[in-house]
Amino acid sequence: VPTSYPFPMTPKKPQQWLQVVGHAGSFHVGEYGTLLKRFCEGEQQCYLRLMEDSLRPFVPGYYGVVQHGEHDYNMMDNLLMNFNAPAIMDCKMGSRTYLEEELLLARERPQPRHDMYEKMVAVDPDAPTVQERAQQAVLKTRYMQWRETLSSTTTLGFRIEGFRKSNGECHTNFKRTKSREQVVEAFYDFVESNTHIVWGYLTRLKQLRQVLEESEFFRTHEVVGSSLLFVHDYTGKTGVWMIDFGKTVTLPLHLTLDHRTPWAEGNREDGYLWGLDNLINILANMLPL
Ligand code: ATP
Ligand code: MG
Ligand code: MG
Repeated sequence: VPTSYPFPMTPKKPQQWLQVVGHAGSFHVGEYGTLLKRFCEGEQQCYLRLMEDSLRPFVPGYYGVVQHGEHDYNMMDNLLMNFNAPAIMDCKMGSRTYLEEELLLARERPQPRHDMYEKMVAVDPDAPTVQERAQQAVLKTRYMQWRETLSSTTTLGFRIEGFRKSNGECHTNFKRTKSREQVVEAFYDFVESNTHIVWGYLTRLKQLRQVLEESEFFRTHEVVGSSLLFVHDYTGKTGVWMIDFGKTVTLPLHLTLDHRTPWAEGNREDGYLWGLDNLINILANMLPL
């Protein structure tokens, strides 16, 4: 497997890049329509494998590691390149957004956490159990699992992280967007009720599902915390790509996932395809019969 790929040398018009969510400091706009994301070895490994996989058309092109200032970066396509004043949405996929190994780590030294208790009560005063209330503290594992139940992550297998409309309007307050109806409402807002755009997204997601079901990469990885990036503009052009493989890990050799079987600790299932099924179903229902 090569460790870098040549990138198209055709100079393109000055590009812009806008971010919906994620750590702001970790990106730079690169040359020739590329984007630099702060280096993470796990993510590099994923992109290298993805460049050789049937999923390649559904992820940004990857060109290797470059230095910029004091840090290393993974260089990839800026997916906004060929859009005009794009609207963008980040949907985090899967029925959980922490890795099994993170759960194990959190369990190693179980300490009741007062800070997490406070965060929990701030969102939902009724969430702590009688015992947790008495201790004024919760375990980290408990906090991690509780947090997932607030959004549609556990009930639909994906959650909206945020979107930005072409007029610059940003919405990132979706931590408690859970019901199907709330998700539909957010989608209508994002596409400004344009069913042609919904149709474009739906078509692309169905293609993605077909490729995911055949992908060697997908079968052999626990895909957690990864997003689908939705992009459209006023010309009616649409696109969806998989991004963010910082928490995508290779499975042990004997193990493969179907990404639909419900998660039980130890089976490593991430609910990615189950979430995609639900997403497709929801978008399909937004179209007129
Ligand atoms: P997280 O907090 O989810 O772990 P992160 O720091 O890993 O975030 P990403 O999720 O990879 O960052 O990206 C954050 C945002 O940056 C995305 O929501 C998207 O708006 C933008 N972005 C990321 N990759 C690309 C790309 N290749 N092209 C265009 N925009 C991108
Ligand atoms: Mg992300
Ligand atoms: Mg990430």
